[in-house]
Amino acid sequence: MSLPSFSKVKELAQLVVVATSVGLAMRFILNVGDPTFGTVPATHVHFMYSNLRVVVDALYWATNLAMVPVTQVFAAIPKTTWGEYASLFPITPSFLVGDWIQQQLLLIPPFPFIDKYMLTEDPRAWMPGVIDWRALVGAVAYPVVLPLLQSAFDAAKQLVLTVLVEATHSHKKEDRFKQALKAKNAELQKFNTDFENLHQEIHSLSEAVTIDELTKAYNRRFFSEKVRELFQKQKQTQRLMSILMIDIDHFKGVNDTYGHQVGDEVLVFVTQVLKRLTPTQGFCCRYGGEEFSILLPNMEVDEATRVAEGIRQEIMKVRFPSQAKLRSTVSIGLATADFARYDVKQKLYHFEDLIRLADDALYQAKTQGRNQVRRAQIV
Ligand code: GH3
Ligand code: MG
Ligand code: MG
Repeated sequence: MSLPSFSKVKELAQLVVVATSVGLAMRFILNVGDPTFGTVPATHVHFMYSNLRVVVDALYWATNLAMVPVTQVFAAIPKTTWGEYASLFPITPSFLVGDWIQQQLLLIPPFPFIDKYMLTEDPRAWMPGVIDWRALVGAVAYPVVLPLLQSAFDAAKQLVLTVLVEATHSHKKEDRFKQALKAKNAELQKFNTDFENLHQEIHSLSEAVTIDELTKAYNRRFFSEKVRELFQKQKQTQRLMSILMIDIDHFKGVNDTYGHQVGDEVLVFVTQVLKRLTPTQGFCCRYGGEEFSILLPNMEVDEATRVAEGIRQEIMKVRFPSQAKLRSTVSIGLATADFARYDVKQKLYHFEDLIRLADDALYQAKTQGRNQVRRAQIV
């Protein structure tokens, strides 16, 4: 069974309320205007009023009874929906208010003497002087209270609807925001991946530009830039800088005897030693062919000599997998510039001056028997 719609129930309730109010008002007028009030009634007047009174009382009780099913209908509506608000309508029956006021009036001095009339329970009894206060108050109060309750209910309903609509709306807004955020995140992810790939590409490109393919030492291009940069920096800040020029001895003979592949192997193995023994702040570069250069910023001549000597000795220990008996040696020329010294600063005008000095020292090492370290005299 489907419940009657709320508006229908409300219409019915309003109808009952209006009918009750009319009945109550008429009862009140009849009571007050009763010519028998406090006097001995004339028979014909009494007859007329008593008959009219029966009709009005019937109307009053009929409307009061009609309230009962309306109350039940409201009670039947589930409390969780409109019931909570709908049940507010019939809870102020006019006679409850009337009863209360009647009780109060009994306390006021002029009234107690008529209490025997006022307390008469059966309003249908034709009893002169009975004023139905319930009817009076109900007739006035009920139509006033009802619109107030209705507007309070409408306001509450509007509030609930607003809250519901707002909640739904903000939920949708949140969904849209989340989707947008997801899309942005995906974009960002892609951008990150692209960026990483690009970074990798740049890295391998810069390696290709600066690293020697065979030996994996820095190439000549890197050397040229780095030596220029270091030379200027150290000179400006008046600090030290050493250069080792390293050349494999009789390397042509290796190629000639064992072939170019073994020659390449020697280059690779020698470079491994050079890189391993290059101090952290230094740069190990392949200068060209079987010549290498190690740049050592902030390194004074004795320490650079120790590095060079260490390299020379280690190279002698290198064993080559494809030629067990093959040994290799290197000659090393070393030049150190101490830019804190005024004369050095004046003499070494260009980085090529320092390279030339190291080269001269290497030449000396070669001419004096190879497999040795020679230091350049700067001033
Ligand atoms: P020295 O002791 O005076 O330095 O004699 P050397 O034989 O080492 O010097 P030289 O300059 O006469 O010979 C260098 C040789 O190095 C010549 C060249 O063929 C060889 N060479 C240069 N680059 C490479 C390379 O990448 N691989 C190989 N296998 N040989 C190379
Ligand atoms: Mg050589
Ligand atoms: Mg050479």
